[in-house]
Amino acid sequence: MRYLESKEQSAEFLRLTLPLMVRQAAAYHPVSYTIWYEHVAGINPPLSTALTARLASNDPLTDDEAYRLYVRHVSERDAAVLDNLQERLQSLLDDTAQTFNSAGEDTGHFSRTLRESRADLSGEATVVKIQQVISRLLSEALRMETMTQVLAEKLEGRTQEVKALTEQLQRAQTDAVVDPLCGIYNRRGFLREAKAMLESTSGLDGSALVLADVDHFKQINDTYGHLLGDKVLRSVGEIFQESAKGNEIAARVGGEEFALLLPQTKLEGARAVAERIRAAVARGRILRDGTKDAIGSITVSLGIAIGAPGETLDMLMFRADRALYAAKSAGRNRVCVEAPGLV
Ligand code: GH3
Ligand code: MG
Ligand code: MG
Repeated sequence: MRYLESKEQSAEFLRLTLPLMVRQAAAYHPVSYTIWYEHVAGINPPLSTALTARLASNDPLTDDEAYRLYVRHVSERDAAVLDNLQERLQSLLDDTAQTFNSAGEDTGHFSRTLRESRADLSGEATVVKIQQVISRLLSEALRMETMTQVLAEKLEGRTQEVKALTEQLQRAQTDAVVDPLCGIYNRRGFLREAKAMLESTSGLDGSALVLADVDHFKQINDTYGHLLGDKVLRSVGEIFQESAKGNEIAARVGGEEFALLLPQTKLEGARAVAERIRAAVARGRILRDGTKDAIGSITVSLGIAIGAPGETLDMLMFRADRALYAAKSAGRNRVCVEAPGLV
C-alpha cells in the first residue's frame, strides 16, 4: 500500500490521530498509528467500520486488538490488492486475445476477397469487370488500412497498460509476501515458498521445520517500549535470515514468531542450526536508542519437527509448534524436538 497524501495532508491526519490514540490502551507504535491514520484519512472503509463498532463499547483498545485489526484490515487488504491486480491483468490479456481474433476474421475476409477477385479475372476480362475488381480491392485495402491502424493503436495502449499493471503487480507481490519490519518472508510468503518447494521435491519427508518464539516478549514491549520491541524483532529476523542457506526458507510467521524450513535435513543437523540460532539471540546485545544501554538478554524458545512421509505442511507446523510449546514449558531459551522417539 502506498500512501499518496501530501506532507500537509498527513500533518493534518497526525493532528487528528493523536487525540484518538491517547484514549486507547494500545501503545503509540507504528501498528496502532497505521490503523488510526488509515481511519482518519478515510482510505480504509472496512477498517473504519470495524474500529467504529469496536469503540462504541467505550473500552479502550488494547495492543492485541490493535495488532489483530492491523492483520485483518491492513496486511490482508494488501493481499487482496494483489488478487485484484492479477484479475485485471488476466482480463486485459483476454481482451487483447479477443481483438486479435476479430482482426483475424477481418484478414480472413480480405484474403477471401483477393481469391474471389483472382477468380473473377481468370475468365474473359472486360473493362467493366476489371473496374469492379479494382474498386472492390481498393475499398477492401482501405478497410484493412483503417483496421490495422486501429489495431496498432489498441495494441500500443494495451502494451502500456500491461507494463503499468506488471509494475504494480510486482510491487504488490513483494508487499504481500515480505514482512516490512524484518525484510524476510511473512507467513503468506513462507507458505507460498514452502508449497513451491514441496511441488519441486519429493515432499516434506526428511525435511526439518524449526519454529521459534521470542520469550516474554510482551514484557520487553512493556518495559522498553514497542519501538525497541521492533528492534528486537528485526535483529532476530536477521539471525534467521543469516541461518537460511541455499534453498532454506526463513520467515516471520507471526508477531514474535519465526520459522526456518530446512529441506532434506536430518534431526541432528536441524538441532545444530536451531541451537546456533538460540545461542546467537541470547548472545546478542540490543542497545536502547537514547541511552545506548544494553537491555537484558533476549532469548527465544525453539521447536523442531522432522517431516514424515505424506505429511502436509500444516501437520508439520502443528508438530513443530507442539515442540515449541514444550520448550516454553521446560523453562524457555531452549530447543525441543517433537516426539523424538518417532523421528
Ligand atoms: P512467551 O514467552 O510465553 O512467548 O510470552 P510472550 O510475552 O512472548 O507472549 P505473548 O503472546 O503474551 O506476547 C506477544 C506480544 O507480542 C503481544 C504483542 O503485543 C506483541 N507483538 C506482536 N507483534 C508485534 C510487533 O510487530 N511489534 C512489537 N513491538 N510487538 C508485537
Ligand atoms: Mg507468540
Ligand atoms: Mg513469545
